[in-house]
Amino acid sequence: MSFKLKNSNTSRHLAVFLAIAVILSLLGAIALAIATSGCTVTKSVPAPAMTREPSPGATSTSPQSHTTNTSPSQTTTPRKTSGISTSTLPSLDISKKTRKTTPTTTIKITKPKTTESKQTNPLTTARPVSLSAPGAVAITFDDGPGKYTGQLLDALQEYGIKVTFFVQGQFVESRPDLIQRMHAEGHQIGNHTYSHKFLSQVSSDVRRSQLMSTSDAIERVTGSRPTIMRPPGGYGSEAVYVEAGEQGMATIFWDIDPADWKKSNKNVNYVCNYLLNHTQKGKIILLHDIHETTVEGFIRALPQLIEHGFTFVTVDELVQLEPGDVYPARWRR
Ligand SMILES: [Zn+2]
Repeated sequence: MSFKLKNSNTSRHLAVFLAIAVILSLLGAIALAIATSGCTVTKSVPAPAMTREPSPGATSTSPQSHTTNTSPSQTTTPRKTSGISTSTLPSLDISKKTRKTTPTTTIKITKPKTTESKQTNPLTTARPVSLSAPGAVAITFDDGPGKYTGQLLDALQEYGIKVTFFVQGQFVESRPDLIQRMHAEGHQIGNHTYSHKFLSQVSSDVRRSQLMSTSDAIERVTGSRPTIMRPPGGYGSEAVYVEAGEQGMATIFWDIDPADWKKSNKNVNYVCNYLLNHTQKGKIILLHDIHETTVEGFIRALPQLIEHGFTFVTVDELVQLEPGDVYPARWRR
């Protein structure tokens, strides 16, 4: 009895062992089959690609190859609309969607942001800007329109020269005829605040209204809002660039400054000689048309500059900018 029992116990154990062995070997075989035959499938399953996307440190090569490949099986699977929708969705939509999720673009954008400052606004992110007219010069006149602006416009018309005027809102309202003429004769009109406020030194409300009221005044006269502004005194700041960007404008400084507003420089010969000696291709020159000496000095230099081969463009012809841009970029602070 006891022997038989023992015997049956061991046979039961054996059966259990055998069963386990069979199950284990089966599992092993299945695993092997998946590892070998399913290789391409598991590789194309974009689950790892999804986890890689948000991490900016990830190597750009592998996710790039995933997304640039427009094969529907790869591109649609991450969106979980795969299988059924692949055939129904237009191929263009798919590529657009995947392009949006491409990590390469996000990497490029996030890098400068983190190195610059935490407060940067997407509108003012520095980006490389190339000159559209590197051989030309952009002459700019600030603070007007003033008493001598009409005389200046006559000379510009005579020589067929286009310049840029950064005007004050208060004078747009008091001399709308000159603004109308600038616009009609192809000059560019920029915003120089309503009453020459140093924008980095005033409250955000004043900053906003100084720019807004000037753009409003320009629009009332010309029918279009300015796309550029120049901060009075060159007083820029990140808050200024952001505000300008939010109002659809790039911030423009200058390259060449004769300081024509200084008492010691209010001299026709000085302005004329300065322009003849310092004008350079691809640069922005700062002048003020509210000073008679500047207007006369410029008019005297103009035919000689033309003789020397200089050509003149407006700021938007010199360089293509977007709202929030700062140009020249070295002025950013
Ligand atoms: Zn000014």
